[in-house]
Amino acid sequence: MVKIEHIGIAVENLSRSIPLFEKLLNSPCYKTEKLASENVNTAFFLTGETKIELLESLTHDGVIAKFIEKKGEGIHHIAFEVDDIEAEMERLLKEGFVLLNKSPKPGADNKLVCFLHPKSTNGVLVELCMEKKQTGQ
Ligand code: ZN
Repeated sequence: MVKIEHIGIAVENLSRSIPLFEKLLNSPCYKTEKLASENVNTAFFLTGETKIELLESLTHDGVIAKFIEKKGEGIHHIAFEVDDIEAEMERLLKEGFVLLNKSPKPGADNKLVCFLHPKSTNGVLVELCMEKKQTGQ
């Protein structure tokens, strides 16, 4: 894996949390994006090479809403950048990790992503992500 690409943080309310993180990081939110396929609104901040991704549920029964119900607001996942997501998925499967999706799926911020089941990673929800190519996708 190349680096930590971003850390995902579950929040109840983006419009409340964006100014809070702008203050905390002293860096403006550079992008918000609704990802209907994942039932979330996202907001991104840059801290050096790594991003912070805030996640707000679009509905009361979305995965982020359920996460907050169980654990409260806070760190939701760690995303690692990979060069070749399919090869990395194959490697991790062989190592015995449990993948939550069989093929890479579109994520926020122009990425292809895949999640690993936290049961196989000591309770940490891990995301693999790879920048979508400009052509052909
Ligand atoms: Zn993410």
